[in-house]
Amino acid sequence: VMGQMMDQPLLISSIIEFAARHYSSNEIVSRRVEGDLHRYTYRECEARARRMAHALQGLGVQMGERVATLAWNGYRHMELYYAVSGSGAVLHTINPRLHPEQIAYIVNHAEDQYLFFDLTFLPLIEAVAAHCKTVKSFVLMSDRAHMPTETKIASLLCYEDLIAATGDDYAWPQFDENSAASLCYTSGTTGNPKGALYSHRSTLLHAYASAMPGALNVSSKDSVVPVVPMFHVNAWGLPYSVPLSGAKMVFPGAALDGKSLYELFESEGVTFSAGVPTVWLGLINHALQNNLKFSTFRRTVIGGSACPPAMMDTLIDKLDVHVIHGWGMTEMSPLGTTGGLQSKHLALPKEEQRKILQKQGHAIFGVDMKIVNDDGEELPWDGETYGHLYVKGPWIVSGYFRDEGGDVLKDGWFPTGDVATIDPDGYMQITDRSKDVIKSGGEWIGSIDIENIAMAHPAVLQAACIGVAHPKWDERPMLVVVKRPGQEVSGEELRGFCEGKIAKWWLPDDVVFVEALPMGATGKIQKNKLREQYREHKLP
Ligand code: ADP
Repeated sequence: VMGQMMDQPLLISSIIEFAARHYSSNEIVSRRVEGDLHRYTYRECEARARRMAHALQGLGVQMGERVATLAWNGYRHMELYYAVSGSGAVLHTINPRLHPEQIAYIVNHAEDQYLFFDLTFLPLIEAVAAHCKTVKSFVLMSDRAHMPTETKIASLLCYEDLIAATGDDYAWPQFDENSAASLCYTSGTTGNPKGALYSHRSTLLHAYASAMPGALNVSSKDSVVPVVPMFHVNAWGLPYSVPLSGAKMVFPGAALDGKSLYELFESEGVTFSAGVPTVWLGLINHALQNNLKFSTFRRTVIGGSACPPAMMDTLIDKLDVHVIHGWGMTEMSPLGTTGGLQSKHLALPKEEQRKILQKQGHAIFGVDMKIVNDDGEELPWDGETYGHLYVKGPWIVSGYFRDEGGDVLKDGWFPTGDVATIDPDGYMQITDRSKDVIKSGGEWIGSIDIENIAMAHPAVLQAACIGVAHPKWDERPMLVVVKRPGQEVSGEELRGFCEGKIAKWWLPDDVVFVEALPMGATGKIQKNKLREQYREHKLP
């Protein structure tokens, strides 16, 4: 017997329709590139998104065709999230921090038909426009007053003109929920970037699951700042889960320094935020240096790379901001696990609780995971045995866009490329990315552990641990460290600091100090660059 429920496709447009109807006066606030704050309601957002969808139809954009964005987090970008996907086209968000050649490669690979961009990126667009073969027109996400008087771009349109020129009579089309909705390329640290193509169904299921109390816990009581960019795996789904929950949305635009973020958090009553560890450094420093507290900001999700325990301690103990450690990847929409305590943990001493919170966390419903050895055999969940982490679920890729890389699944599971442990309660902890693991005398050394310990030293701002070639042991760990401004520490002191906290043979053979670490387009330390740089390094 079939169930007797209405057959209604899970479509992205339904999220903004819902917010516009049921949370109509709740706000979206954006810091604009122009510097000022723009504010309007979900009702206005939906109306403008519908007009833009109508305009896209007028421009001849067909179902399934790709429309690209190069933009900060802001209301016009949000409108495009709904206008493009809602109309049946595919939103392709591009990371502006990528090398211009990579941007052109991605645009051509995706066969983008239109490319929308923020004023900041005008010079970038002028440099790459001629190489973007499929793009019919570029659209500046601004009003007529900000349009350049002269430009090398062959066809340049104005966002506000497009909206103004359409009527209000467009209705969101209904179609198969398995239709493609958005496209995001992985950063491609090795080889060319590959695209993860999300569907309406996968996006909605991910939005539901990620908003749950055990996950990000977003509700209409919240005011949310996605510091994570809308070009980094769709800002971890917040442009969907926030309106779905009726929460207030606050977009920081391009102003991601500590002072600007602090002011925005205070003025907009922000309660919840999300970002990679590096962005919190600035905000934390600003707050501590100026002896500031947050009036409303009470929790944040940190992920994308491991949240250093010292950062978690500072946020919780000094700034009263609870940290949800999250793990995921572009191929997973991105959320896989989130950290948090269960009732049985509440009586544990604080240090024990902290150890649980430091793990990358528990699977959220919809995601299954396992760890396997080199032969693909499942390993025990004892919290100590580590292996290759495999995942499956309805918002995890089954292959890459245009079959790049061929069959990626192994017996129906997606190999994440991460190495992890899982404990008996189902908490997963990342040891390393498989390509960052240090192999010493045939045994693995987890670089994240060593970095976490080093970063707990008061003089250390950032640390990366890499393997350096060694005649006897194959590889030995070495620490590359950025000191906090005005602080001093020697390599010997740091090695001493690590002693007793890790196995003796894990102690880094050498410590070098640098001014800055190479950072990738999504704010992660590029260890492959470091490995290259120190390939010839002579260990003492
Ligand atoms: P890229 O790094 O190429 O931009 P992603 O943003 O999709 O791509 O990165 C996914 C990877 O980031 C994961 O496979 C994992 O190695 C790492 N990662 C994400 N979150 C965490 C975390 N909380 N702790 C440790 N590593 C993480």
